[in-house]
Parts: sequence; structure tokens; C-alpha cells
Amino acid sequence: MKLKNIEKLNLKSKTVLLRVDFDVSIKNGGVVDGARIISHLPTINFLLKQKAKVILISHLGRPQGMIDEKYSLKPVFYYLKKKIKNLEFFNNNFDNALKEKIKDKPIVLLENLRFNPGEEKNDKKFAKFLASLANLYINDAFAVSHRKHASVSAVTQYLPSYAGLLLEKEIKNLTEVIIKPYHPFIVLMGGAKISTKMPVLKTLARKADQILVGGALANDLFKAEGYNIGQSFSESHDVEINKTIKRKIVLPKDVVIKTEDKIQNIKVDSLSRYKDFKILDIGKQTIQLFAKYLENAKIIIWNGPMGLFEEKPFDQGTRGVVKIIARNKKAKIIIGGGDTITCFKQKSLKPNVFISTGGGAMLEFLSGKMLPGIKPLLKNK
Ligand code: ADP
Ligand code: MG
Repeated sequence: MKLKNIEKLNLKSKTVLLRVDFDVSIKNGGVVDGARIISHLPTINFLLKQKAKVILISHLGRPQGMIDEKYSLKPVFYYLKKKIKNLEFFNNNFDNALKEKIKDKPIVLLENLRFNPGEEKNDKKFAKFLASLANLYINDAFAVSHRKHASVSAVTQYLPSYAGLLLEKEIKNLTEVIIKPYHPFIVLMGGAKISTKMPVLKTLARKADQILVGGALANDLFKAEGYNIGQSFSESHDVEINKTIKRKIVLPKDVVIKTEDKIQNIKVDSLSRYKDFKILDIGKQTIQLFAKYLENAKIIIWNGPMGLFEEKPFDQGTRGVVKIIARNKKAKIIIGGGDTITCFKQKSLKPNVFISTGGGAMLEFLSGKMLPGIKPLLKNK
């Protein structure tokens, strides 16, 4: 998959509309973790060095198409201003006055795109307005590229459109494991939301040697196998497991359950002896079992925590696999998912580890879907 990239463009005095993903958590008016913002700096700095004028556009949270100060990008502006001298911030009333105001500015950040109802509706008028501000459009926001939103999809109809450096890196890393699948190829899946993860499992089952399943995802599969899962979290509808998946899936052998008065590590085969309980983590033997596969893997794709990791001691399974994965220096490791990447905080990232900025987008891309934000950026479409 080759994308139209920006490296050889003549950008001098051109105005670039750059879609970034500054969707970060805000607490007491400040940015909690700036990693997402920082990840776009290579693209921003490249454009500035080429003497382009830059209009940064992003969403933050879900303000439902209305102005809501809680979701303002102002805290992001103050954060970024420390790194980019000339940066200015503008509320976007999306009118001609804005156009005049930003005309000669070297770099500006506009207020939350989702304050406008047109954004999430992929509205043409809104997209046209955004396009009218610039000479070309660059998408650097992989994490929203599975969304049919005006600043990701419709806008590409009105401007020459290119992939930013971060977006290119994402696609390169994710494509690599799909077209050059080294073996053993191990997928580790957990978390919740089996309905969104099942299509990915189906596609990856064709490439992977084993699919290790933990988290609430395993509960759905236990249920499908006829096990008693008590009050454990699972999505209500039945999941269909085809033969290829069944052959490759490795389910936990033991789990950590919580009953009214106790937390205990039990064998999955003995689940039927319990009544009121919740499965909240994978067990110790399962960590060992998963370790056998993860230690020898040449490719590891990981999405989804192994248990209710936000609550001790149910973080042990996830912490266990994080340690094992971090020890594997020869595998190409891809980690993605909003919750998953918060679990994989390493002091220094090894070059064989790629942390995707996309959760849903990564899963959809890996399941073989052509994302609406990527299609317009293809070289030979
Ligand atoms: P990601 O954001 O990385 O894609 P998900 O959103 O699919 O991951 O899943 C993460 C959530 O799943 C976490 O909030 C975690 O507590 C929850 N979870 C994982 N295992 C269990 C479990 N056994 N019971 C209840 N919740 C679980
Ligand atoms: Mg999540």
C-alpha cells in the first residue's frame, strides 16, 4: 500500500490543512499526557522547515456538535505553544472572518472540529469551508482514519490530499506484518467488545499461528464453549467461532475470580462449581502458558488487557504479559488500543516495538478494511 507522501512536495508559501489527533485527556485545564501531541511534531516541523503555512485541525472528546468549553483545545494550545514559537489559537466560527484572521499566520490551531455539527456528519459544506482555508490537505491522524468525518473524508474531495509522516509510519508498520508474516506469528487479544474484535480475529486467524485470548473477550468464548461464567462481563449475543479460529485459539486454563467474600485463582474446568462470581483476570498458569508462545514469537500483535487491570490485584495478568512481551527482543511487536497502550508504559521503547496511535482504526485496518481516511491518499487509486 503506497500513500501519496509529502517528502517531495514543493511546499514553499503553500497553506496546509493538517488533520492531527490531539484528542488527549484534560485535567484541571492541563494536558494529562502529551504523547499524542508530540507524535505529530515530526510532520509539523517538517512542514514549517519547508516554509509552508500550517493550519492544525483536530477534535477532542465528544462534544456532540455543540460548543462545550470542557472539550476546548485551548489546553492543547498552551501545551504546544511551548514547543512551537509562533503558534496562535483561533475559535472557529467557520466564516470568512476566520479566513482573513489567519491569512498571514505561520501556524495556527483551530478550536475543536466537533464543536461543529458538520464534522461528524461528513458534511460537504463544512468540508468545503475547511478546504477553502488551504492549498492542500494532509492527514496525520491515523486514529480517526476509520471515521467518515468531514475533516478526514469529505475534505479530500476538495483539496489535493496527502499522508503525513506519522500516518505513513503507521501504515508502513501495520502493512509490514500483514504482507511479510514471520513465524511464529502470535496474536494476543483481550479487553472487551468482542463484536468489534471478532472481524479482526477472523482475518488475523488466516495469518497467525496462535491467537491467545484473555480479558473479558475470553468470557464470551468460554460461554460459547458451554462454560459457566457466572456474572462475568460478556456481550449478550452469541459469538460464532469458525473452524480456523477454533484451531488457533488458545484460551486461559485458569482464571482469577471474585466471589462475594474471596478472590481466588481457579482452573477453568472447575468454574461449574461456583455460583455468584466474576472472572476478572487470567490465572498464573495461563501467564506461563502464554509466555511459551510469546517468548518464541517473531511477530506479536497485542490488543486488549488480560483483565480488569484498573483494579488491583486484577492487573497481574496484564502486567505479566507486558513483562514477557518486553523481554522479546527479536519479534516485531505491534501494540494498539486506548487501554492497552496505557498498560505498556516502558521507560525506553525498543526499536522492535511499534505502538500504534489507533485503537479502532488499527483493528479495522488489520482486519483488511480500506479505511475511508486512507483510501483518498493512495498513490494509484
Ligand atoms: P482497548 O481500549 O485497548 O482496545 P478495550 O477497550 O477493548 O481495550 O478493553 C479494555 C477494558 O476491558 C478495560 O476497561 C478492562 O478493565 C476491561 N476488561 C478486561 N478484562 C475484563 C474482565 N475479565 N472483566 C471485566 N472487564 C474487563
Ligand atoms: Mg478501550
